[in-house]
Amino acid sequence: MSVAAGFGLSHKLAYAQKVPKVAVVGAGIVGASIAYYLSKQGGDVVVLEKSKPAVQASGNSFAWLNATYFDSPHSYFELRSESLLAYHRLQRELALSVHWGGSLEWYAEDDRQQELVSGVSRIRASGSQTRIIGKQDLSSIEANLQVDENARIAYAVGEGAVNPKAMTEVLLAAVVRNGGVVQYPAEVSAVQSIGNKVRVATQNDTLEVDKVVLATGIDTNSILKMAGVNQEPMLPATPGILVTTKPMPQILNAVVYTNKTHIHQLLDGRVIVGEKAGPPQTSQHGGYLKGKPNQYPDPSLAAEHARRVLAIAQDYLPQLGNAEAESVGIGWRPLPKDGLPVLGQPAGAPGIYVAATHSGVTLAPIIGELASQEILEGVRLEQLSPYRIERF
Ligand SMILES: Cc1cc2nc3c(=O)[nH]c(=O)nc-3n(C[C@H](O)[C@H](O)[C@H](O)COP(=O)(O)OP(=O)(O)OC[C@H]3O[C@@H](n4cnc5c(N)ncnc54)[C@H](O)[C@@H]3O)c2cc1C
Repeated sequence: MSVAAGFGLSHKLAYAQKVPKVAVVGAGIVGASIAYYLSKQGGDVVVLEKSKPAVQASGNSFAWLNATYFDSPHSYFELRSESLLAYHRLQRELALSVHWGGSLEWYAEDDRQQELVSGVSRIRASGSQTRIIGKQDLSSIEANLQVDENARIAYAVGEGAVNPKAMTEVLLAAVVRNGGVVQYPAEVSAVQSIGNKVRVATQNDTLEVDKVVLATGIDTNSILKMAGVNQEPMLPATPGILVTTKPMPQILNAVVYTNKTHIHQLLDGRVIVGEKAGPPQTSQHGGYLKGKPNQYPDPSLAAEHARRVLAIAQDYLPQLGNAEAESVGIGWRPLPKDGLPVLGQPAGAPGIYVAATHSGVTLAPIIGELASQEILEGVRLEQLSPYRIERF
């Protein structure tokens, strides 16, 4: 078990009269971010993680920081854009490595491509610098990238990518520096509101706290039920394969996202490659994936999948022909039923705060900033009103 604690209370003056004790369940990037902002503003925070930090979605995420997400309301584009700004604030506060290389997105399918092009003109009307470019413009941006003659590519200059596992670790280390505690393995097995307190049980302890944040990703429906909340906001999680190569010389600056592949290169030289196609619907895949594994049952199967994913990406980036896979993992996406985040205190569940979302790597900083304000000040921010659990 890892337990870390400190007593850095000097900066907690804003809430000095009563320091609220908050348990954050889940040490993925969302829980870590909320815990960080709570601790920074004076909350007395304990993070409870059933396994290890960033082992679930956050450790197996493509981790593109993107606002250009068009099959959703404009307010969601604004929230995502706000989070990119929050990333810059966070970079000034913590030693956080973010590759701000922009992004290049295009599709072969007509309907998706049209949605992309009209989405770009919509956000340009509200001041976005994102623009559509062709193959010729691309050569001065990404000399190595191979695209069709007629490709029309959305170039979002202000986007980027992170190493989400490293970022989670940076946030949790800051929680500890701010006086918080990070505990794992600590699986929460009971959550119960009692008066104005909430009792939280793990195999190690039973805690009585003022608030509990449920940042449990794909386990959100079951932990909500445990806490007496009837809504089931999440869809069954869907898998995605990610290959990480050994460090390579720089071959790519931007995040590349198209219909067959997605690719970016971390600042340490590792290339991250994901595939768009889901697993084939065979009984072998179905049986194996039932347990939502993050790893392959044997190394040869992992190597075979890595070769296939890299071969597809190589059509776009020939230099990947020299790539050696360092690891290949399976990530499970937490997916709210309408694709939008689920944030806030469910009605009739005093002391409980839920934070579940897809795109959690993009959204972690803004969710951390706004959720911590709602939790510590007991307010409901208008900006988060589209994301309440009561819509389900
Ligand atoms: C393949 C893939 C690609 C993605 N691509 C992108 C992308 O490009 N950009 C982007 O922004 N997002 C992307 N996402 C989504 C993003 O990764 C997730 O939205 C984000 O990681 C969710 O973070 P989280 O902290 O909510 O969940 P998680 O990282 O899953 O963390 C939840 C944690 O809660 C813990 N937990 C659960 N139950 C309990 C319990 N009872 N007690 C204690 N702990 C518990 C789990 O062990 C886990 O560590 C992708 C996801 C996947 C899988």
